[in-house]
Amino acid sequence: MNFNEIAALDKADPLANKRDEFDLPADTIYLDGNSLGALPKTVKSRVAEVVSQQWGCHLIRSWNDHQWIDLPTRVGEKIAPLIGAAKGQVICCDSISVNLFKLLSSALSLNSQRNMVLSTEDNFPTDLYMVQGLSNLLGPELCQLTLVAEQDIEQSLNDKVAVLLLTQVNFRTGQLLDMQKLTKLAHEKGILVIWDLAHSAGAIDVELDKCHADFAVGCGYKYLNGGPGSPAFLYVAKRHQANVKQPLAGWMGHAKPFAFDATYQGADNINQFLSGTPSVIAMSALDAALDTWQDVDMAKVREKSIALADVFIKLLQAHPSLIDLRLCSTEDSSQRGSQLAFAHTDAFAICQALIERGVIADFRAPNILRFGFTPLYTSFEDVWNAVTILVDVVETQLYKESRFNLAGKVT
Ligand SMILES: *Cc1c(COP(=O)(O)O)cnc(C)c1O
Repeated sequence: MNFNEIAALDKADPLANKRDEFDLPADTIYLDGNSLGALPKTVKSRVAEVVSQQWGCHLIRSWNDHQWIDLPTRVGEKIAPLIGAAKGQVICCDSISVNLFKLLSSALSLNSQRNMVLSTEDNFPTDLYMVQGLSNLLGPELCQLTLVAEQDIEQSLNDKVAVLLLTQVNFRTGQLLDMQKLTKLAHEKGILVIWDLAHSAGAIDVELDKCHADFAVGCGYKYLNGGPGSPAFLYVAKRHQANVKQPLAGWMGHAKPFAFDATYQGADNINQFLSGTPSVIAMSALDAALDTWQDVDMAKVREKSIALADVFIKLLQAHPSLIDLRLCSTEDSSQRGSQLAFAHTDAFAICQALIERGVIADFRAPNILRFGFTPLYTSFEDVWNAVTILVDVVETQLYKESRFNLAGKVT
């Protein structure tokens, strides 16, 4: 591929104008939006307004006057169409970890004659930790974690399994699991499924309702661009809502929070999954960030995401000097999320050198260099420039300099 072909791809890109809606430093190629999304311009003005006007001037009246109280529902409803969910099933609250606790408990109680939670060995650690914590709390007779390799999920579905906990897009390799097929196979065995959409929401066209999903969680600060520590979301299919009780029964999930009743009575809808007071400033930032998605067709996002990654692979493969960077993601784009992982003994140092040269990728232990593609603000020219710099970093062996081997607290 040559640069003219790259320029032509940008010219034909239906999402190209979306980039203007983001604040991106001019000297940076940002390929880490799968870890922390970029800053939408609307977020800056919204946060300023929430702080100085809504909080500063209207004070407590803003719970009603500026609908702070409705933020979890309103934000949930904005996320719903991005993940193929009809109304009344998605709510914004807490972190993925906390939401998993609520959903794992709910799902286990719906399937109380079984005790096994089946997940994958290389699932994101917090997902597994939450099961381990719940297992310690409830005891192994009520909750027991079993881990299998991704390729063994299907053959491990049996009538001992209560809950199948899967991350749709593997955080390291980008491997995309078949939601429709696995949900169907699980249901045939009487298993409920919890999908973690951390690397799916805003990256691929998720179809929760169409796949008859039971439960899901997802992230606000990755592809949805809600900002660092942005609240997460959860999905509970309508058909389960009347039959479940989640254990973190807080006043915001009460049927009548402001009745101040001493006895908990959960709301009979998705609101029962709320626990405490929403983080208004953070949730307002996510609310504003979601406005960038309003006119976006997820099919176009998926198409561009695949094209960006395919171009990256193609450009890389044209350079024999990069032979030691081994692609760990599948080359089959239909089975991949919106990121690429490469293994290299010096992955950490290469990543640090890239960052110094303005290409922000990330490192995942033990030896993975990860590049994320965010179709709303990544251009084909970015991909071209990133590969050019990567080639230079490797060919000049820049990464071998000692300053690139110092790890910070967050990698
Ligand atoms: C990013 C991510 C999380 C983050 O969980 P929090 O509790 O919101 O910090 C969880 N699971 C997966 C798969 C992730 O990629």
